[in-house]
Amino acid sequence: MTGGAGFLGSHLCQRLLADGHDVLCIDNFYTGTRDNIVALLGNPYFEMQRHDVTVPLNIEVDEIYNLACPASPIHYQNNPVQTTKTSVHGAINMLDLANRTGARIFQASTSEVYGDPEVHPQSESYRGSVSTTGPRACYDEGKRCAETLFFDYYRQHALSIRVARIFNTYGPRMLPDDGRVVSNFIVQALKGDPITIYGDGKQTRSFCYVDDLIAGFISLMAADDPFTGPVNLGNPNEFTIRQLAETVLRLTASSSTLIDKPLPEDDPTQRCPDISLAKESLGWQPGIELEEGLKRTIAYFRETL
Ligand code: NAD
Ligand code: UDP
Repeated sequence: MTGGAGFLGSHLCQRLLADGHDVLCIDNFYTGTRDNIVALLGNPYFEMQRHDVTVPLNIEVDEIYNLACPASPIHYQNNPVQTTKTSVHGAINMLDLANRTGARIFQASTSEVYGDPEVHPQSESYRGSVSTTGPRACYDEGKRCAETLFFDYYRQHALSIRVARIFNTYGPRMLPDDGRVVSNFIVQALKGDPITIYGDGKQTRSFCYVDDLIAGFISLMAADDPFTGPVNLGNPNEFTIRQLAETVLRLTASSSTLIDKPLPEDDPTQRCPDISLAKESLGWQPGIELEEGLKRTIAYFRETL
C-alpha cells in the first residue's frame, strides 16, 4: 500500500492485517505519521518502507493499493508541483510495478475529478467541470490524469485495475492540523476556538465515516474482472458546512462561536455521490450516519489533543 501511514491508509493497513494479509506500507511521511501505524509495527506481517512514489520501486507484490497523495487542500496546495508528480509519476511507477508483477491495482481517485459540478448528485458518467489552471488543479488534474493512466494500462497491458472515486471521508487519525473541515471544526470546538466557516457556509458536502469507506475498498478490490470502476464511494447524505458546524457544536457541547472566513478559490459549491453503481455492483453502501461518526471522531480527538 502506498500512502499507508496516512489517515485512510493506516485504517486500510489495519483492516488488511486483520483479514490475514501480509502488508508492506510505503510512505514518505509528507502528511502521514508514524503514530498512525505505531500499533502495527510489532506485527510480523507488517513492514514499513520510507519511499517516495515518484521514484520507481522494485518489489514483489500480489496487490497494490495506491493511496499516496496529500488529500487536504492546504497540504496539496503547499507544494503543487510535487502533488501532480505524486499523482502522475506515482501512478506510472505503481502501474509499471503491477505490469511487471501481475498484481491487481487499486487507485484512490476522488470526487474532485468532478470539479465544481453542474450535475447533482454526481454519477460516474458525469465528466466534470474542472479548472486546469486554478489552485486545486494540481490535485484535480493530477488525479484525472492518474485515472487516464489506469485505463490506458488496462487497455494496453490488460492490467486488473480498480478505480474508486472517494467522496469526503472523516474519522479517527486525521491530523489535528490536517486542515479539512471535519477535523478543523472538532479541534476548534474542543479547544473553544472560533469555528472557521469559509464563505457563507451554504456549500454542501456528503461525509462518509472511514470504516464504511474501507469496507467499500475491500469490496471493490474483491470484485471480479472485468469490473474496473470508476465507482463512487461515499455517503449520499448531504449537509451544508454550516449544518456541520452546528452539529459539531452540539455534540461537543462547545461554546465556540462561528466566524466567517473567505471562501477559497474554486471551492466546489455542492457535492453528493450517486452510489447506485456501488450498490448494484459491489453490494456496498455506508451504514454509519454523520452524528454517530462524529461522536466516534470527537472521542478520538478528545483523547489525542
Ligand atoms: P493523507 O494525507 O492522510 O494520506 C496520504 C498519505 O500519502 C500520507 O501518509 C502521505 O505521507 C503519503 N504521501 C504523500 N505523497 C507521497 C509520496 N510522494 N510518496 C509516498 N507517500 C506519499 O490523506 P487520506 O485522506 O488518507 O487520503 C488517502 C488517499 O485517498 C489520497 O490519494 C487521497 O487523494 C484519496 N482521497 C481521500 C479522500 C478523503 O476524504 N479522505 C477523498 C478523496 C480521495
Ligand atoms: N471549510 C470550512 N472551514 C474549514 C475548512 C473547510 O468552511 O475550516 C469548507 C471548505 O471551504 C469546503 C468544505 O468545508 O467548502 C470542505 O472542505 P475540505 O477542505 O474538508 O474538503 P474539500 O473542499 O476538498 O471537499
